[in-house]
Amino acid sequence: MIITAKTQKVGLLGWPLGHSLSPAMHNAAFAVSGLDYVYLPLPTPPELLPQAVAGLTALGFTGVNVTIPHKVAIIDLLDELDASAGLVGAVNTVVVSNGRLIGYNTDAGGYIGSLVAAGVSVAAKDAVVLGAGGAARAVVAGLIENGITSVAIGARSADKANAIANRFAGSGLPVNGIAWESSAFAETVAKADIIVNTTPLGMYPDTMSQPQLDWESLKPSAVISDLVYNPLKTSFLAEAEQRGHFVVSGEGMLLEQGALAFSLWTGCPAPRPVMRQALLAGLSNKSS
Ligand code: NAP
Repeated sequence: MIITAKTQKVGLLGWPLGHSLSPAMHNAAFAVSGLDYVYLPLPTPPELLPQAVAGLTALGFTGVNVTIPHKVAIIDLLDELDASAGLVGAVNTVVVSNGRLIGYNTDAGGYIGSLVAAGVSVAAKDAVVLGAGGAARAVVAGLIENGITSVAIGARSADKANAIANRFAGSGLPVNGIAWESSAFAETVAKADIIVNTTPLGMYPDTMSQPQLDWESLKPSAVISDLVYNPLKTSFLAEAEQRGHFVVSGEGMLLEQGALAFSLWTGCPAPRPVMRQALLAGLSNKSS
């Protein structure tokens, strides 16, 4: 790859960045699409976020991805929020358009895209979301925008689960927060069509941990999905599969949120097979 003054720059704002899979995924996508773009890791300490964001326009960046801990803090530094970011209350992608910084959230669409790619529709289904952090907000937003009938947010903290439910109170749908220790939660899980883990339980290196469910009570048709993508098959998904449930892993969401960001920056369809290959190669290095 030859980088010149004309090369379009995108990157990833976060702190600390560690080993992110996004540069490999996007640079592989640019290369196979014949696009003169480069994706750079941009580690940015929180106290320097305003300068870094101002620098995006000064340096002629086309856009950026945004990750922990900047997804909410960056909102006040942008000129405009797309509806996706407004609904979630967090930004994971920025597009610089005519000098204006526009914030998007591709996690919500990315989660739904991963279900669709696996042949799972959310329309007219009842969902249970395990966990009440940033990813849970995106998942709930995606479910609501795509025709879900009801969403129950189960977390170890009922207050945090209720805070997310309250955020979506205007949706007109039953969105409830529940402590996952309660009997009401057990009853909700037994009726669920889709159950999604949005906690880090099961993530490498603590791969044996998983959310606790009364597996015997679940509908046999319930789809089980996990946002954790390292390992690709968490112990939660392995147990679900062993019990005969259809499972969807977190790698699909990682791919789809990246594919949506790629299209926002380039206006081109994302080369998903190449992006997936780059992700899988990065993941096999990561967990070994
Ligand atoms: P977050 O904002 O820190 O939220 C994590 C949630 O999990 C909180 O509700 C937290 O509860 C709960 N939690 C954490 N440890 C727990 C434990 N040991 N037992 C029970 N609950 C626990 O994190 P996030 O940004 O939402 O990310 C969550 C996970 O999703 C991470 O593993 C991340 O890698 C993954 N993710 C994947 C994708 C993808 O593309 N596949 C995208 C985004 C995120 P408390 O608030 O009570 O601590």
